Amino acid sequence: MTGVLKNYINGEWVETKSVAFLDVINPSDGSLLSKVPAGSAEDVALAAEKAHQAYKSWREVPATQRIQYLFRMKQILEKNADEISAICTRESGKTFAESKAEIVRAVENIEVACGIPKLLQSDFSEDITRGIDEFVIRQPLGVGACIAPFNFPVMIAFWFMPYAIACGNTYIVKPSDKVPGTMTRIFELFEELILPPGVLNLVHGGKETVDAILNHPSIPAISFVGSTNVAKYIYQTGVANGKRVQAQGGAKNPVVVLPDADPDTTVKIIADSAFGCAGQRCLAASLAILVGEAGVTFTEKIVAAARTKKTGDGLEEGTEMGPVITRESMNRINGLIQRAIDDGATLLLDGRGIKVPGHENGNFLGPVILGNVNPGSEIYNTEVFGPVLCIVNTGTLDDAIELINRSRYGNSACIFTRSGSAARKFRHEVLAGNVGINIGIAAPMAFFPFSGWKESFFGDLHGQSNHAVEFYTQTKVVIERWHDEWTRKF
Ligand code: NAD
Repeated sequence: MTGVLKNYINGEWVETKSVAFLDVINPSDGSLLSKVPAGSAEDVALAAEKAHQAYKSWREVPATQRIQYLFRMKQILEKNADEISAICTRESGKTFAESKAEIVRAVENIEVACGIPKLLQSDFSEDITRGIDEFVIRQPLGVGACIAPFNFPVMIAFWFMPYAIACGNTYIVKPSDKVPGTMTRIFELFEELILPPGVLNLVHGGKETVDAILNHPSIPAISFVGSTNVAKYIYQTGVANGKRVQAQGGAKNPVVVLPDADPDTTVKIIADSAFGCAGQRCLAASLAILVGEAGVTFTEKIVAAARTKKTGDGLEEGTEMGPVITRESMNRINGLIQRAIDDGATLLLDGRGIKVPGHENGNFLGPVILGNVNPGSEIYNTEVFGPVLCIVNTGTLDDAIELINRSRYGNSACIFTRSGSAARKFRHEVLAGNVGINIGIAAPMAFFPFSGWKESFFGDLHGQSNHAVEFYTQTKVVIERWHDEWTRKF
């Protein structure tokens, strides 16, 4: 079969043992890009076995030498950013600029992981009692695996993988079966790294592959990013199998606007946050909570800013918003919008059914804004994952915080205001892992952990920075005695 993606295991491109294949479709025009294996436990077993063998020698390579591969990894991504971005845009639908931005975030994580010789240092106490010292060593776990979602085909694996291998683990990346070609191309380019075989492996597939990762005894650590129900399943199954699991889930992110917020920046930032990546970002603003007078002064302005967004093919100059990932996703979103209107929401901007000339088979939706959304309604409580912004009005900041804190999700919450004390109260009281103050997408830099609370995250240690280092290492405490009389005196 032509166009079937291969796995990369032990330094070689190998054919899958999967008997079923899924079509990888360009969301912008419905064309077939490739075919991806639906999944096979045998593929995972081979990757786990080879990665485990490679781990035995990789962990002995000094950290200062391991990071030399990461310096080259950064250069490869930067040098090939245009090519990777074009593939990413074709598979995911996001704009070329959005794809390039992903690569910047991936590179940032590699840069932080290059500091691993320092990040691995730990505590030492001399003379805990006379002649006895105690200290901690951080050691790798073995084989790690990342299971990634469709919406960031490049970036997400880099929240984990560079740290894992820098710490001396070996690794398996399982990309989303909707966008598998982007990571495949990255792995082809990474052949230039000349990493020892088995250190970095790529296995394609869907649920069967994921279940094999969850059940394989040689994979002790799993990083997952995806929807909440799957995240919960991954966390519970992995933990029941004795694994270390960090599982980032879905979101419904509120932005609160106080009446004193600066109109121009607030409106522009909210429109960018809600409609960038066609709303398919785990940090996208999907709920605007307008407090008091802000309901009167901001609603029309937000609608006007959204109306100007140009929807189209992400590779075309001037496109600000691409399609949603699949036809099913588009139909699901259209259904949610219609039921919200039937539930009493006001349709303030209707992007349904828009046509993009030359892309009649694309999954396009223009920006949609719904007003008067009832906090008890389906749309209010569902992660739409599309270009839909719901507007809710409240009387006070306290009401807004209370509404946010009732949500099942806690990925991010943002506030727009000129009042320092209101902003301080918000950041102190709001139940969310990433907080933005006059910021629309509160995405932590690579040297901070990517937080997330409630049902947006299952686990303890997050991705990125020192959390990723802690996740991919285990501590060994050593207590050491050297009696004078045992030791030759010089
Ligand atoms: P998804 O949960 O459908 O898929 C994620 C991964 O899990 C994929 O690799 C997929 O192959 C696999 N998978 C899917 N169903 C499975 C099942 N039943 N059993 C085992 N494995 C399964 O998510 P998606 O649609 O690819 O991505 C969008 C979701 O990811 C959104 O909910 C979004 O909020 C979330 N997300 C969260 C973050 C975050 O940091 N919290 C970041 C990006 C995306």
